[in-house]
Amino acid sequence: MMETILQEGLTALSLSTDGIPALVRYAGLLAEKNKVMNLTAINDPSDVARLHFLDSAALLTLYNFQKKAVIDIGTGAGFPGLPLRILEPSLRLTLLDAQNKRVDFLRDVCQELKLEDVVCVHERAEAFSLEHRESFDIAVSRAVAALPLLAELCLPLVKVGGTFLAMKSVDSSQELDASGRAVRLLGGQLQEPLDYTIPGTDLRHRLVIIKKIEETPKKYPRAFAKIKKNPL
Ligand code: SAM
Repeated sequence: MMETILQEGLTALSLSTDGIPALVRYAGLLAEKNKVMNLTAINDPSDVARLHFLDSAALLTLYNFQKKAVIDIGTGAGFPGLPLRILEPSLRLTLLDAQNKRVDFLRDVCQELKLEDVVCVHERAEAFSLEHRESFDIAVSRAVAALPLLAELCLPLVKVGGTFLAMKSVDSSQELDASGRAVRLLGGQLQEPLDYTIPGTDLRHRLVIIKKIEETPKKYPRAFAKIKKNPL
């Protein structure tokens, strides 16, 4: 069932289906671990295939990830980063999350799937920025925070000329409007967002695209308490 959904979905997206066995193994590990810890609220295998794997995969049709250094910020159980890496093996992936148990799970998955080059980091984004600012071609993030706050966590890690991609719902217009000031202050420039449909569903999602056009001033990111209390 999961294989069929992935086969049809990836074909609809004109993506290679070579990664299906790895995705199915990943889904098995996720289901097993989800019994003993809270990794994802999505349990049904068809929903995992569509709402996690195909939603992540759709990004490959909207943006060029080939050979790029990519960081997934607040990756949780690995979304969207791990499906992107499985389906586009040339990208160099760092998975970052503030919760150690989730990062342990990701390390196990990478070992099991022999994705030896994936770097799994247990750290908060704002702390990781202190030593790794402006080192990634692409930062990507799904379901972590509202855009003004998220931009401060993610944009400092992106190289000038690189891009921050935020996965949002199509109802995010207000959030987008509210993020203009933060994006400018952090050296970014909002591009036209791209809406897409997850194959096999009528769900419309949105990829918010923020180009990094200038260095982020050194005073950002601030400590999380400040970011939260006073979003830019
Ligand atoms: N991106 C995944 C997805 O879409 O399924 C996980 C989303 S989950 C709702 C949010 C994740 O962001 C959690 O795993 C949490 O630990 C992580 N997170 C929140 N704030 C963070 C921060 N400042 N730095 C790193 N990770 C953070």
